[in-house]
Amino acid sequence: MNIAEWLRRTARATPQAPALFRGTECLADYVGFLDRAGALAAMLAARGIAPGDRVAIFMKNAPEYLIGLHGIWMAGAAAVPINAKLHGREAAWIVDNSGARLALITPDPGAALAAESPVETLDTTTPGFAALGGGADVPPVPRRPEDLAWLFYTSGTTGRPKGVQITHGMLAATSLCYPLDVDPVAPADGAYYAAPMSHGAGLYAPIHVRCGARHICPESAGFDPAETLETARRMGPLSMFMAPTMVRRLVDEARRTGADGTGLKTIVYGGGPMYRADIEDAVACLGPRFVHIYGQGECPMAITALSRAEITDRSHPRWRDRLGSVGRAQSAVEVAVADADGHPLPPGSLGEIMVRGAPVMPGYWQNPAATARTLRDGWLMTGDIGVLDADGYLTLQDRSKDVIISGGSNIYPREVEDILATHPAVQECAVVGQPSPEWGEEVVAFVVARPGMTADPAALDALCLSQIARFKRPKHYRFVAELPRNAYGKVLKTDLRQRLSDEAC
Ligand code: ATP
Repeated sequence: MNIAEWLRRTARATPQAPALFRGTECLADYVGFLDRAGALAAMLAARGIAPGDRVAIFMKNAPEYLIGLHGIWMAGAAAVPINAKLHGREAAWIVDNSGARLALITPDPGAALAAESPVETLDTTTPGFAALGGGADVPPVPRRPEDLAWLFYTSGTTGRPKGVQITHGMLAATSLCYPLDVDPVAPADGAYYAAPMSHGAGLYAPIHVRCGARHICPESAGFDPAETLETARRMGPLSMFMAPTMVRRLVDEARRTGADGTGLKTIVYGGGPMYRADIEDAVACLGPRFVHIYGQGECPMAITALSRAEITDRSHPRWRDRLGSVGRAQSAVEVAVADADGHPLPPGSLGEIMVRGAPVMPGYWQNPAATARTLRDGWLMTGDIGVLDADGYLTLQDRSKDVIISGGSNIYPREVEDILATHPAVQECAVVGQPSPEWGEEVVAFVVARPGMTADPAALDALCLSQIARFKRPKHYRFVAELPRNAYGKVLKTDLRQRLSDEAC
């Protein structure tokens, strides 16, 4: 089934239900949404886009993004969403790698792509695009579950981005689990697109389409904490995905203004490590509105989830342990922890996390070598290290590529970062390994101090010594103004390691 079929069904069931918003302004109801997506599908077909072709989207979050996604799907093509923060050259690389035949753009950032790539572009801000309509009777091109719907380029935290193939079947499976495992969706709810639609947040669109809920795009087309709180107050109940850094900024803004989070129904956070101190602080400030997910492009939306009750119920005897976990397997997947040969280990053992089930990718786009390394015996090897307890709660230790081996012992940087983050002067930190002739690697902590505060290495050392083994504590501290991040806001540890090795030369 073509995933865009959900738009047609909702438009038939509740044609007048409000669908697309820019800020508080309603731009289309469901029949209007279908009318425009169908018209775009017809336009793409007239331009020679055939089923199976790829069409890139290089735009900031906007209602036109959702029309674009559904129009591409209705035409039987696959969408290649590209993060709007990428450089034109990086976007051109993705267009080229995916073989996209056309790109939907807005002038910003689309002009940067046009300067670097010969791909044909279609500007979604033109009056012609705004006038699209009359496509409500255009049927979605039939698709099989294994047909490509979305080529999702990983954020490239550990190397060049890879194109993850997300099929119509994977999208349907993971979307159907979401209301069960993460956040139930009702027609009165709204999806608020605070995080880039190109990366995760856009994957939530089909769920909210199927449920006939509203889609609200920030007027700023990005994440602005004050706008988020105000839009939620006026338009709630709203659900949204946020990376941990966004949650921190939202909490700072709520504290500064005294906002209590009215209208915020659910904040789903994940995509990177959240310090335990930060989530406790977020719940104290905004209440029981948070759900934690662990996922990766290769198994989109969620591999595991920790519910709002599990995050907030302090009376539960295992609350503290569970808060440090990423929760339990979502309904359509099986999660296991494996030894170096890929054999499942018993509960309590540390190993590589592996996943199988309907939402797992069939492979990377035109990259058989990476696919063979990642898919083994029907399991997706996530490259993350963790431990499952007897009740099925998964605790992440780190990415296998980030593990530090010092004096023959494994050190998981996230464990050290979690402790440093509890120091009042530490705003954020990243721990990496630096080559050492004596130990193999030694631990270095990059620390960003809170504005107006100084983090003292001796105090940080004492804090670590009070909580973890001596060999795990950082041997060196580097105080920096900010941490290097990629376009998705993820800390680039490869850059930090490079910085250390450049200094050593
Ligand atoms: P690349 O594969 O190119 O290096 P990437 O791994 O950053 O890019 P994504 O799919 O964006 O690509 O990120 C998935 C990774 O993010 C996971 O494998 C995991 O390491 C991390 N991650 C996701 N959710 C969480 C979470 N809740 N807590 C900690 N880390 C998380």
